[in-house]
Amino acid sequence: MAKAAQDPMMKYASGEFQQVVEKCEGCERTVQVESARYCSTYTSPEAKWRLGICNFATHVKPEIATSTIKINPLKASKRAAAKGKKK
Ligand code: SF4
Repeated sequence: MAKAAQDPMMKYASGEFQQVVEKCEGCERTVQVESARYCSTYTSPEAKWRLGICNFATHVKPEIATSTIKINPLKASKRAAAKGKKK
């Protein structure tokens, strides 16, 4: 009984963890146990991908659009104020 609690691989054999899905391919959090692959972080990898990219995936990063144009906040505020006054 105590041996099962000490062996970290036994938690995957308990049936609580579901196997990884196709989108998890390449993630460093996958663990190979005998012939099956599991996620070391989540019990249900399929649920993590249901709403988009898994937030703990190591092989996929979400694309974040960034602007390289620098805006002077003082000038922007003056411009916005000037636009509001025009009538
Ligand atoms: S962390 Fe996300 S992408 Fe990686 S194996 Fe787990 S569920 Fe899959």
